[in-house]
Amino acid sequence: MAKRDYYDVLGVSKSAGADEIKKAYRKLAIKYHPDKNPGDKAAEEQFKEAAEAYEVLSNAEKKQRYDQFGHAANAAGAGGYGGGGMNMDDIFSQFGDIFGGGGSPFDSFFGGGQSRGGGRRVARGTNLRIKVKLTLEEIAKGAEKKIKVNKQVVCQTCDGTGAKDKSSFHTCQTCGGSGSVRRVTNTILGQMQTTSTCPTCNGEGTTVTNKCNTCHGDGIVRGEETITINIPAGVSEGMQLSMSGKGNAAPRGGVPGDLIILIEEIPHETLKREGSNVVYDLHINFADAALGSSVEVPTIDGKAKIKIEPGTQGGKILRLKGKGVPEVNSYHRGDQLVYVNIWTPKALSKDERDLLEKLQESPNFKPQPGKNEKSFFERMKEYFE
Ligand SMILES: [Zn+2]
Ligand SMILES: [Zn+2]
Repeated sequence: MAKRDYYDVLGVSKSAGADEIKKAYRKLAIKYHPDKNPGDKAAEEQFKEAAEAYEVLSNAEKKQRYDQFGHAANAAGAGGYGGGGMNMDDIFSQFGDIFGGGGSPFDSFFGGGQSRGGGRRVARGTNLRIKVKLTLEEIAKGAEKKIKVNKQVVCQTCDGTGAKDKSSFHTCQTCGGSGSVRRVTNTILGQMQTTSTCPTCNGEGTTVTNKCNTCHGDGIVRGEETITINIPAGVSEGMQLSMSGKGNAAPRGGVPGDLIILIEEIPHETLKREGSNVVYDLHINFADAALGSSVEVPTIDGKAKIKIEPGTQGGKILRLKGKGVPEVNSYHRGDQLVYVNIWTPKALSKDERDLLEKLQESPNFKPQPGKNEKSFFERMKEYFE
């Protein structure tokens, strides 16, 4: 039988938008749904035909190919758009997208969440959480960490099937491999079918008579895996990264969980991180402050020389532009702020004491804060801007 044009099937024009296509299909899916038309072969055919048309027209790539080549595109095999050949499970699994999650007026009609249960249930591995400790240098530059993780891995003996050999692996007799069973109930609307997970195979569609000796039928065992984790520059304490599929393997060939990486910062010996800035507490003596000098300070990139101008006051904040930490996913990099403390000696020799007593009387040593000196408040404002 020649295939009908997909636009005709859904009763929409070729210029119909995604919303219109979805709406048209929703209408047909309800009208021809097998639960509403039990035993009606013609309705089932129309139900399938509508699902196939929707499958193609709701996918931009498939739609484009169909618009260009029509049904011939499908006959081209690998180059086709893959319409047709949809089974009921595929169609039902589509409904989550068509009718949305909870709150849809059709939920009760399609058995709510159970409508998706029409498909085979795929086991999911659990998520795995690990902590990664990073130095300030690693945070600033980004890091590649190879970490040995103790986790559930796929059993190598049975290749994750859980079966001892091929002959002990069977299609479930209760559900015929679909993973779900349908039950017909009488309601005021007439006969209704509800779908639920097959109790024999737990929705997996298969049963195992002789279990693998290594994993006892689970298809997974405890093992180790070395995982390479690429940590972007600029992460901070408490941040979580997630690697999809790198968590625990799932029983019997299901979908593995995710690896969740919790970031911990190892405090730096001398530098303190403040957001994207790095703060360093510098101590100079008052001879250096009065005469000027050149001092070395540690930075994330190694040691740097900075110039102390003659007459530098204690509490001055020097800024090393771009010597801070980058922000995640940004080109902006913070600064290093050097806070200048004047070191006052705590013990003095006789000679030092004599010298200082002379200086103590000198008029230049009498504090004379002029308008060129910034107040503490002004300096802090600069620091936080
Ligand atoms: Zn095994
Ligand atoms: Zn079953």
